[in-house]
Amino acid sequence: MTRGAPRIDTGGVWAPGVGLPDYHTHNSRCGHASGTLREYVEAALRRGLSGMGASAHLPLVHTRDPILSMALSELHDYVGEVRALQAEYPGFILLGIEADYRPDTFDDVRGLLESYPFDYVIGSVHYLDGWPFDDPRQRHTWDGREIEDVYRRYFDLVGEAAETGAFTLIGHLDLVKKWGHRPPRPLEDAARALAERIARAEVVVEVNTAGLRKPVAELYPDVTLLRLLREQGVAVTFGSDAHSPQDVGRDFDAALAAVREAGFDSYAALEYPPTGIESPDHHPAGNVGRTPRAIPTLRPLPDPPSEMTEAEASP
Ligand code: ZN
Ligand code: FE
Ligand code: FE
Ligand code: ZN
Repeated sequence: MTRGAPRIDTGGVWAPGVGLPDYHTHNSRCGHASGTLREYVEAALRRGLSGMGASAHLPLVHTRDPILSMALSELHDYVGEVRALQAEYPGFILLGIEADYRPDTFDDVRGLLESYPFDYVIGSVHYLDGWPFDDPRQRHTWDGREIEDVYRRYFDLVGEAAETGAFTLIGHLDLVKKWGHRPPRPLEDAARALAERIARAEVVVEVNTAGLRKPVAELYPDVTLLRLLREQGVAVTFGSDAHSPQDVGRDFDAALAAVREAGFDSYAALEYPPTGIESPDHHPAGNVGRTPRAIPTLRPLPDPPSEMTEAEASP
């Protein structure tokens, strides 16, 4: 993302997103998000992000819900809109998509993902055996559930998602905690098993700041899970899951601090190898289909704001 990246003027104010990319953003096409793609890109530039990925929800394949995603017929226009912005801001924007992993529809989803030239794909679990557990309209359907079973099933599906090889990033790794439901005891075995599966699958995990804006009020994933990922050698990157332009790059200072606290000193940026260089014979996750995807490339974490001088930090 460094080739031709625009020079960024944050007006001398340290912005939380400085130096980091935001690979998880929605837009008005999604039906439950506000703001045009251009407004998200402008917000990302203003906040000093190093890049931005557009990651609208992939149209649902077996049903149509205008609140959850754009229609399939709109996907072509979405791709065109992102490509036009890429031409305007070379090296700054990536064409991504957030796709659901659910075993019952995955063959069709995989086909759809391979028919478009996405630079990267976020794999997310929003359904447990058909149950949309994180849909605000369905929050009451948690009543009477065995929380531990819900968590175990969720972690299991996320592990399966990682193993499909279809996803570049895993979205909001512990989304199951969104409404604040907690199992009676920490599920260390399940968390460790998930970290191991993700490491073997070589998928990148996003640190998603949207959890801070939800009832659970925590990053996805929490620092305990981040430590397990670190132990297993999993790479992480950053996403705000912004559903309005004002949330682009939001709380990236907190995300950066958590990632450092968990022992990371690098993160994965999504980049294409320079042209003329043979791509490695090794295929990272997300690169097993027909469409070449951007390659996760480790970059040093930027310095935290506490290392800024007074003069730099104040307006
Ligand atoms: Zn959404
Ligand atoms: Fe999601
Ligand atoms: Fe999202
Ligand atoms: Zn999401």
